[in-house]
Amino acid sequence: MSISLTNEPVTEIKANVVVVGCFQDEAFSADAQAVDAATRGVLGRLQESGEITGKHGELTTLLAPAGIAASQVVVLGLGRRDKLDQGAVFRAVAAAAKSIAAKSRPVVAWYLPTAANVPVLATGICAAMVGCQGQDLYRAELKLNPIAEMKWRGDDTQSLETGVILGECINLARELVNRPSSDIYPESFAERAREIAGREGLDVEIWDKERLSAERCGSLLAVAQGSVRPPRMVILRYTGSTADAPTIALVGKGVTFDSGGLSLKPSDSMKTMKCDMAGAATVLAVMQAVARLKLPVNVIGLAGLVENMIGGNAFKLGDVLRARNGKTIEVLNTDAEGRLVLADVLDVAVERKADCIIDLATLTGACVVALGNDVAGLMTNDQTLCDKVAAAAKTCGEPVWQLPMFPDYAEQIKSNVADIKNTGDGRWGGAITAAKFLEEFVQDKPWVHIDIAGPAFLESAKSWIDAGATGAFVRTLVELLAAASRNTTTAS
Ligand SMILES: [Zn+2]
Repeated sequence: MSISLTNEPVTEIKANVVVVGCFQDEAFSADAQAVDAATRGVLGRLQESGEITGKHGELTTLLAPAGIAASQVVVLGLGRRDKLDQGAVFRAVAAAAKSIAAKSRPVVAWYLPTAANVPVLATGICAAMVGCQGQDLYRAELKLNPIAEMKWRGDDTQSLETGVILGECINLARELVNRPSSDIYPESFAERAREIAGREGLDVEIWDKERLSAERCGSLLAVAQGSVRPPRMVILRYTGSTADAPTIALVGKGVTFDSGGLSLKPSDSMKTMKCDMAGAATVLAVMQAVARLKLPVNVIGLAGLVENMIGGNAFKLGDVLRARNGKTIEVLNTDAEGRLVLADVLDVAVERKADCIIDLATLTGACVVALGNDVAGLMTNDQTLCDKVAAAAKTCGEPVWQLPMFPDYAEQIKSNVADIKNTGDGRWGGAITAAKFLEEFVQDKPWVHIDIAGPAFLESAKSWIDAGATGAFVRTLVELLAAASRNTTTAS
């Protein structure tokens, strides 16, 4: 995919499609006016008849318009200018790109108006790259044809670069999640991480089964033991700031396939369980993004990688595990395995002197019951850090909602035979009792848990993104790290 900036007149640019943006209840932009003039007032007439309203996500196509060099013009509604934010830009542009990609249209030029306080160019480029990319990895006939060449009105090369980096990193996360567990399993994920680290200049450590055992990761290893695929832990480090600057740890759940173990999932719930490593994929994608963007922050990215399977050696209900931090865990449901994996990874993050920890995990169906498919749950032991995560998510238009962490919930994970157990009492509040479990492994570090069980993966397509992996929260985490680096720069 080649992406460049242009200032060629909208009427003269050679492309299969020219996209012109317009706002609702507002006069046409200069570029839309130029199209209107060249077409002898077609846009104006369509606006008068109510065909073009500028409503958010509205697409109006003019085929082979006279006076325009491109084969078609798409007028893209951006909604009301006073409602415009990154989320609105992202969804509108991604929807346009997805619609354009329904057929092979290799060259697309984008003429979007600028807006105060919203990075339209960077967000638009990123969105177009995501929108035109589908889950076609294994199909001969593509449902979406990625746009080979994009030209964007403007001359801000930094926004161009930022947009391209974010688009590539989101699509990396999506690709890793969309690949089935026959392709992405702990070893192959770790190899991808090693490859990316080498290319981007990240420090990388990969712990194999022997090392995990020497490191006393008894909780993670128990989940892995039913699979013929050996587990891995990936530890990436990016040092963009001075040694005394704070280190932020990102921790991802990487269950490359979750059968549920002996607490076996029904077939329908198992169908999409290749996506249970979305947290780890997000962490890897964000590490690639911070390295490419050269953000002045220190970040470690950790991924716990296992396959949760059944077999003669699988861990069992009633087993008592000893986690890396010494706590004992009674296993009462082998499908509550994500927290067992994260327990040991969080402990490594603490040991590596993280000043704060953010974990991402497709952790609980209960979170989806509580908040629906499109909203991630936030749970925390530190309101200040949680507010920062929520603010970054709001900036990017990725919906989140905080769930309470009252001490009473912790009563539910007390065990009669071990320090804690890996389930609550029944289903109620299951997203929170899972978070209460994780809290046992972060010591007193400021920590936010993001349950992405809903938004990480779509069962069916939306207007702006294909079904399958979404790459959710790559943008939010990059925004959070960028904000952290802005703060340290101002402070010093
Ligand atoms: Zn599970």
